[in-house]
Amino acid sequence: MKSKENYTIDDLIKIVEKYQSDSKYLEKIKKTYIFASNCHKGQFRKSGEEYISHPLHVAIILTEIYADTETIMAALLHDVIEDCDVEKEEIEEKFGKEVANLVYGVSKLGRINFSTENEYLIDYYKKIIVGMSEDVRVIIIKLADRLHNMRTLWALPEEKQKKIAKETLEILAPLAHHLGIHKIKSELEDLSLRYLKSDIFYDIAEKLNKTKVERDNTVNEMLKYVTNMLTEHGIAHEIKGRAKSIYSIYNKLNKGRKFSDIYDLLALRILVHTEQECYLALGIIHSKFKPIPKRFKDYIAMPKPNMYQSLHTTVFGIDGYLFEIQIRTYEMDEIAENGIASHWAYKEHKDASILMQNTTEQKLQFFKSIIELNEDKMSSEDFVNSVKDEVLNNNIYCFTPKGDIIELPQDATPIDFAYKVHTRVGETMVGAIVNNSIVPLDYKLKNNDIVKINTSKSSKGPSREWVNIVKSTQTRNKIRAFFTKSEKEVYIERGKDSLEKELRKRKIAYDDFYTQKNQEFLLKNLKISSLEELYLEIGNGKYSSSMVVNLLFKKEEAPSEPIKKVPTKSKDADILVSGIDKVKVHLANCCNPIPGDSIIGYITKGNGINVHRTTCHNLEVLENRNVDVHWSDTTTDKYMTTILIHCNTRENKLIEMFQKINMLDSGIDKFITMNRGDDTVYELDLYIRNLEHLEKVFTELNKLSYVTKVERLIK
Ligand code: MN
Repeated sequence: MKSKENYTIDDLIKIVEKYQSDSKYLEKIKKTYIFASNCHKGQFRKSGEEYISHPLHVAIILTEIYADTETIMAALLHDVIEDCDVEKEEIEEKFGKEVANLVYGVSKLGRINFSTENEYLIDYYKKIIVGMSEDVRVIIIKLADRLHNMRTLWALPEEKQKKIAKETLEILAPLAHHLGIHKIKSELEDLSLRYLKSDIFYDIAEKLNKTKVERDNTVNEMLKYVTNMLTEHGIAHEIKGRAKSIYSIYNKLNKGRKFSDIYDLLALRILVHTEQECYLALGIIHSKFKPIPKRFKDYIAMPKPNMYQSLHTTVFGIDGYLFEIQIRTYEMDEIAENGIASHWAYKEHKDASILMQNTTEQKLQFFKSIIELNEDKMSSEDFVNSVKDEVLNNNIYCFTPKGDIIELPQDATPIDFAYKVHTRVGETMVGAIVNNSIVPLDYKLKNNDIVKINTSKSSKGPSREWVNIVKSTQTRNKIRAFFTKSEKEVYIERGKDSLEKELRKRKIAYDDFYTQKNQEFLLKNLKISSLEELYLEIGNGKYSSSMVVNLLFKKEEAPSEPIKKVPTKSKDADILVSGIDKVKVHLANCCNPIPGDSIIGYITKGNGINVHRTTCHNLEVLENRNVDVHWSDTTTDKYMTTILIHCNTRENKLIEMFQKINMLDSGIDKFITMNRGDDTVYELDLYIRNLEHLEKVFTELNKLSYVTKVERLIK
């Protein structure tokens, strides 16, 4: 975000006019400005400017995320209650209830009583929670307010600078992050660092400056290259080189990375029009530039909890430089930059503010966590610790076997994971498997762990011991609650949870389900007398929630069609064996190597050389029997390899998957279908040209909404 020193109301009107041209609204904003500027008349900021310049700048910051008229008006008025003794009623009379509520909300946030640090934090967090649950726009105005105050922080004495910068870094920046408003978050962080650790800040800034020309040249060259490739394939796009924020570099240095490693990392962002083009662009880039396997992240298929979507990959680019590339659609980019506020950017969203509030409540795990914390009757100290640990600190992200992301505090255990998925899962858990290994219940989870919780219907509930093991205060409270509640209450709660989870899973709105008519239908058909009894019967296992939902909402069955087989013939491999000319070579059928795989040979007794992938667990490592082998540069044949596709549905999806595979010029030799609970796993033998080809197949399959994982199989 760029800032100008002196804006006038005319500047503001001109900017708003670009996205909100209705003169009715522009008039309202002008009228509000005149009122606010009269209220603040004679007041000056520490920087020497007239006070009104502050609310005006706050309004300008909000125009950068296309804030609606009420929000702009409230921004102009945000300090009049506090600093000019204007009553809420007067604002309501002059500018309407909506604006008055926003201004009042922001004012309440500002009034914080310092005593002990704990009390201060409790006060602050609680106000944020109230603000968010009433109208998330209050928080957005607060963030813009803080951003302008940070931009003008130089005017304050050093001690105050440090205090405000610390508060910004600890509370406001994480808040902006969780709301997904990256623009504001990133500037808040950089500004905070500048005042908290100014020597480090300027050191990084200087180093960045020194290497700028060289980095810019390399980025521009790569940019041209990629643009040509994408244009050749008919993909309309825009590419931006992007600067890393000073704070993000500082963070990486703090984690022990070297300066040179970070500067070497150059970054590009590619914007395209459709999701499909994202994957196409990725494929095109990977076909030319080798990716670093572990650095590829598909946040399109698996969005981050703050709604962020994008593909990330790191490739060896031109001149051997590493390039971090992000690929996303324009809409994803809008969400990545503005998060929750991106609703404003879309004109067709008439009730953007209502949508924003709904999104806040539905989508943001962070928001849910604070609301839950506030509802739990916990002590003040627990409350502060919870918010600090679980909401604002560096959280870790783990996955369910289906690929859902679960956000947890640092050092969380599988028990915390289970409870976060669902209280019922926690209460019936008997063990946990992390990345395919059984782990003890006090195991400390790490980022990106895939966690499978084993549950048993005969489990009698959590153990009292767990209270001492778990990390999250919420989990602890839930476990304690289990022991204080009667069994019936537990069942009712479980049943309700289970039913609502099923509704969310099936994307049925609660309102559509809980209509008067539906309730009467259920009670009559299941011969029960109340909703509570229904929950009880689900909770104790008499009815399953999916069966109850099915009574009202039929599942759609996919039609079954005959399946086309595509036989392709496979020949002996074009594999070169070091130092030997003619030798019989077999590709091992346990790991089925394909060109591009790293391979190794094993000399058999009288039957030539068996070629395995170097990662194959069947490979016998015997020094005098192993021989170096590699693929010839000119392999043209297709090779058979076995993959597993995990789907989170039991519906037959083979046809759609086969079509995808056929379109990519791969063939299927045979397949096996395995049902595992609600999931289906297909084992497919595919004919594949090389690793690149296989990666394309994986990318296409991963795009299917029901595919949770695709992997190669080593038998
Ligand atoms: Mn202010």
